[in-house]
Amino acid sequence: MTDWSTLIRDVPDYPKPGILFKDITPLLADHAAFTQVVDELADGLVFDKVVGIEARGFILAAPVAYHSGAGFVPVRKKGKLPAATLEESYELEYGSATIEVHADAFTPGDRVLIVDDVLATGGTAEATVALIRRAGAEIAAVSFLMELSFLSGRDRLQGLEIRTLLTV
Ligand code: AMP
Repeated sequence: MTDWSTLIRDVPDYPKPGILFKDITPLLADHAAFTQVVDELADGLVFDKVVGIEARGFILAAPVAYHSGAGFVPVRKKGKLPAATLEESYELEYGSATIEVHADAFTPGDRVLIVDDVLATGGTAEATVALIRRAGAEIAAVSFLMELSFLSGRDRLQGLEIRTLLTV
């Protein structure tokens, strides 16, 4: 077992002053650590599809889907998906953001595992949950590599199974 937590690099003041960015690229570059976290994100959970949230969520969710025998569905920033979409907007610290999923991405009743790298304020994950439900699927669980607990993001995901591999 690798102590992969040491492979997450803190980058101060990125992308703007006051933000301590959690850079997972050293972890991704380490095969043992990468495979271990991919296993742990989904271990013991039951689901039909894995949703990755653009962009770092894609890197984690796709191998989870491959490893689990599940399908992969991208949730993307507005304007990136080519076919008919559903969209959901949410508030950021400054302004707002909109995410989309293909309207036909799910079979009704699909159980979905949502994967992303960092749970911060929870706004992105909350909007993703709403989007998936509107698309006719159920949420099996929401898995993150890391949770920034001081931002209380899990309060916005009440009633859902939340897995975080590391809490800071
Ligand atoms: P939030 O909606 O506030 O929970 O933010 C979650 C999204 O922003 C995730 O997709 C993360 O990749 C990214 N994010 C937020 N804060 C950080 C951080 N300190 N370091 C790295 N990524 C972050």
